[in-house]
Amino acid sequence: MEQIAYWIHKRAYITPNRMALMTESSEDTYQSLSRKVNNMAAFLQNECNLQKGDRVAILSQNRAEYLISYFAIAQLGLVAVPLNIRLTATELAFQINDSGAKTILFEEETLELYQEICKHVNFVNAYLLEEAGRATDINIRHVAVDAANDPFIICYTSGTTGRPKGAVLTQENMFWNAINCQYALDITSMDNTIVLLPLFHIGGIGLFAFPTLLAGGTVIIPKKFDPGKAINIIEEYEVTIVMGVPTIHEAIRKHHSFDTANFQSVRWFYSGGAPCPKELINHYLARGLPFGQGMGMTETAPTIFMLSREDYKQKVGSIGKPAMFCDIKIVDQAGKPVKKGEIGELLIKGPNVMKEYWGLPDKTKEAIRDGWFHSGDLMREDEDGFIYVAGRKKDMIISGGENIYPLEVEQVINELPAIKEVAVIGIADEKWGEIPVAYLSLNNGMTKSEDEINTHCQKRLAKYKIPKNIVILDELPKNATGKIDKSRILEMSKEVFSEEK
Ligand code: ATP
Repeated sequence: MEQIAYWIHKRAYITPNRMALMTESSEDTYQSLSRKVNNMAAFLQNECNLQKGDRVAILSQNRAEYLISYFAIAQLGLVAVPLNIRLTATELAFQINDSGAKTILFEEETLELYQEICKHVNFVNAYLLEEAGRATDINIRHVAVDAANDPFIICYTSGTTGRPKGAVLTQENMFWNAINCQYALDITSMDNTIVLLPLFHIGGIGLFAFPTLLAGGTVIIPKKFDPGKAINIIEEYEVTIVMGVPTIHEAIRKHHSFDTANFQSVRWFYSGGAPCPKELINHYLARGLPFGQGMGMTETAPTIFMLSREDYKQKVGSIGKPAMFCDIKIVDQAGKPVKKGEIGELLIKGPNVMKEYWGLPDKTKEAIRDGWFHSGDLMREDEDGFIYVAGRKKDMIISGGENIYPLEVEQVINELPAIKEVAVIGIADEKWGEIPVAYLSLNNGMTKSEDEINTHCQKRLAKYKIPKNIVILDELPKNATGKIDKSRILEMSKEVFSEEK
């Protein structure tokens, strides 16, 4: 298979004048995008003297050059190490040192963070991303790239389950993800996709920047997410696909300019990355706006499931069925497939599954057994073959020998209109081993007492599942992609509940 910058160069030949990439400050047709990819590749090869396999760290908000750098890196068989700009300098230094990146591309606005990082890392090359396309020698030596095996991106998982691990994705992984997305959502050259997730996260790259470019459509990338701006762009540029994590869709619907009239062009609002409350999905559906859910993870580049256009109205809450070129099974602890309706762990096999965890052969062997990637996610299948997320293995609470799936409790609490967001965690308890505790925040101007929440839970949940404590915060802590950060809530709970003892 060809390295993936080929997509852009071939498109520049087939449809040179079609719009490929738009940001707040730039517009590129496929022809100009192809030229910029070549310029950056020439820069990386000739000015930075980078050789195949060298790692290149990128520290930037969303911008055209960020996306361009992925294709230039692909063309030369280099390895991108996208950095989450919301992490601290020490956290980032860990990832840079772990990946062995000696070159960094950063932007003017991340200069301060870059300087902090330099206290812990010795770079050989450091360049401004905005200048990394200005090569003086534009001749590029051909590099033979093995798209199926050479590492392309080391994407560090958000770390919600412990120390970040570098998931090594190949160019072929990205290709198959793009194909899977196209097949699931019918992405074509007619699509205008807005990218609201950061390009340092697999969601920003795979959903749906790469799939849209492969299809010859237009990708629109605001610098950062702002609901008002997003709504304006959607209307002005006739956006057809709006992908986001639930907090993004929540912010859009809460914005004062949310109006179905602004969304005439949209054929898909799509949510993934975290459980999406049914109430939020129904808000869009009730206004005639198509809203589907999918599910994926960094290690699978990321798409695994997507709900299709025939089913999104009937199967609200489901993440759909597996993508075209991606097999799954749901198994019990002994590795045997569970019956329909029962909860088990999700295993995945397919050309989108990562090659390995960078420098962690034992973790790789633990995660990929007999070709099946063990996700740590718990799922169940309904009678019609649709899949529902039940939670994460490591989040499961065992109270007095009974399993409690926090997601089930969260979904019940979320039914109350006053609730903005909720996370249920388990805290240590002498009598029961663990007990469930709910952390939540309320919608503006709304109130809800602990008693009212308890009464609602009593109607819907077995006694042992009802949170024994409820903590109301102004806002729950989030990670860089806007997901509720349960590890931080666990830390907070340790302080609060150990003080109480
Ligand atoms: P880490 O792997 O370090 O814990 P992370 O979980 O945030 O971090 P990602 O790869 O960003 O890493 O997220 C993938 C996880 O997000 C999945 O394993 C799953 O638990 C969750 N997820 C993704 N989509 C959905 C969805 N639609 N519904 C519920 N959970 C989802």
